[in-house]
Amino acid sequence: MTGAGAADPSGRLIRVGLDVGGTKIDAVAVDPAGDIRGRLRRPTGWGENAVVESIVTAVTALAEESGFPISDVGSVGIGIPGLVDAESGRVDHAVNLGVESLDLAARAEQGLGIPFRVENDVKAAALGAAVLSGVAGSMAYLNLGTGVAAGIVIDGRIWRGSRGTAGEVGHLSVDPRGRLCGCGQHGCVETFCGGGALAKAWGRPGALPIRDIFDAADAGDPLAMGLRDDLYHGAAAAVRVLVLSADVETVVIGGGLTALGDRLENGIRAALHAGAEASPFMRSLRLDERIELLPAGSPAAAFGAALVGASITEKEIVPHG
Ligand SMILES: [Zn+2]
Repeated sequence: MTGAGAADPSGRLIRVGLDVGGTKIDAVAVDPAGDIRGRLRRPTGWGENAVVESIVTAVTALAEESGFPISDVGSVGIGIPGLVDAESGRVDHAVNLGVESLDLAARAEQGLGIPFRVENDVKAAALGAAVLSGVAGSMAYLNLGTGVAAGIVIDGRIWRGSRGTAGEVGHLSVDPRGRLCGCGQHGCVETFCGGGALAKAWGRPGALPIRDIFDAADAGDPLAMGLRDDLYHGAAAAVRVLVLSADVETVVIGGGLTALGDRLENGIRAALHAGAEASPFMRSLRLDERIELLPAGSPAAAFGAALVGASITEKEIVPHG
């Protein structure tokens, strides 16, 4: 029970959430009890028109496959990468989607006649992870995927900061002599534990480069062992900065790299433990006991988007009735 799916004043019961990624859309339908009633994945279109079209199609397909009429959908929330203006529902610079600037909420609403709300994908995932993990109070969600970013949830609400930058720990430089980051700095956390940066540093072909690195490290390959250590230390640095700056109780780790499961979690835990050894202060924080890994394939991001959509106020909903 989350209360997220409570019926809105128009009597529409279902909240839809979409996590729009570079290659696929993960869509969930959430019922009034807060349970996921249907889920599907569809490819994402490239470019502004195709992105809108694939979102509209995902919502209609989800309704059809889950067996409810589209008229039962009270709201749609979208989590999408890029610079998101949550107030206006506008997305800028979503480079992985071929989107330069898009009035996403307005365009999608035109297509379906349902109110839409848009949020940055990691922030939406943070909200979903908080509810699915049952974390009350304060938590951070650390997303380890191609890139690295975090979302912070305080008392059930996304903490945005003054310019929406809160949680951008991937671009904290921890080694000025380190690898060049896509952002222009050297030695960002993302160059240590971002899947994209690690795959580039590994430089060998393969569909699952991070798994290859781990397997090669297990077999004693020195380059792979170094990169695996980088991953552990980069993720540990991200956890440290989240707890030291926001004092969150728990850091929930999600994103594509969670497919590595225990190998990832145990390594980050060990790096946190080792990093605190010389410091009574850091030891007292017990950081290694404050991380949690989402199960691979968790619907946290799409579920969080549904929660974002459900926060549409009564005033916003009525005009579409
Ligand atoms: Zn950077």
